[in-house]
Amino acid sequence: MAQVKGNTPPQSTSQQPSVFKVVLLGSSSVGKSSLAFRFIKNDFKEILPTLGCAFFTQMMEIDGCVLKLEIWDTAGQEKYHSVCHIYFRGANAALLVYDIANKDSFHRAQKWWKELENEFQPEEIVVILVGNKTDLEDSREVTLEEGKAFAESNKLLFMETSAKLNYQVSEAFTAVAHELLRREQNGGQAQRKNPAVDLKEKARAGKSRCCLD
Ligand code: GDP
Ligand code: MG
Repeated sequence: MAQVKGNTPPQSTSQQPSVFKVVLLGSSSVGKSSLAFRFIKNDFKEILPTLGCAFFTQMMEIDGCVLKLEIWDTAGQEKYHSVCHIYFRGANAALLVYDIANKDSFHRAQKWWKELENEFQPEEIVVILVGNKTDLEDSREVTLEEGKAFAESNKLLFMETSAKLNYQVSEAFTAVAHELLRREQNGGQAQRKNPAVDLKEKARAGKSRCCLD
C-alpha cells in the first residue's frame, strides 16, 4: 500500500461525525476496487488507474446523522495472499466480495470470513457478503440462494451487486452504514471514534473527499 503510513485512521474531534473504517476483502479481480470507484465516483472503468493511496473517505447521511466511511482498498496484495492483518486491524466493517461467476472466489470469501471471526468479536465488526458482477448472469457459478444461505448462517448482511451496471452498490454501503449507526446508537462499537453528529446541529455534511481526484 502506498503513501498511507501505518493503519491509524485520521483523528476526529467532538465536532466531527463518526468515522468508521471499512475494509474491502476478497480474491483478486472480484471487483473490490470497482465497487469503491462506483460508490465514490459513480463511475466504472474496465481498467482502473493505479491508486496512489490506501483509503478513500465518503461522507454519508443516514436518518439525519452524518457519518464518514473510510474505505480501505488493497493495492492488489491479495493476488499473493499477502493481505496483512494490519490492513483490517481496527476495522469497523468489512465488505467480503466474491464474483458470482467464479465459485473459487466464493470459497475464498468464506476463508476471509474465518479470518475475520478469529480477529474480531461478532459485535465489533459489521460484515456484508457481496456477490458482485450480477451482469454476468449467463456465467453465474454461485446462486443467489448459496450466497444468501452462507450469509444467513453466519449472521452477515448480504447483497448482490454489479459495479459495472451500478446495481445495488450504494445500497450495499448504505446497509453497512445503517448497521454501524444502529450499533453505535445501541452503545456497541467499542472502536467508534465519537458520536454521530445530528444534521440539525450540523447543517452541512461537507463535501465527499476522495484521493482518486
Ligand atoms: P479487484 O482486484 O477485486 O479490485 O477487482 P477490480 O475492481 O480491479 O476488477 C477486476 C475486473 O473485473 C476489471 O476488469 C473490472 O472491470 C471487472 N469488474 C468489476 N466489477 C464488475 C462488474 O460488476 N461486472 C463486470 N462484468 N465486470 C466487473
Ligand atoms: Mg483492486
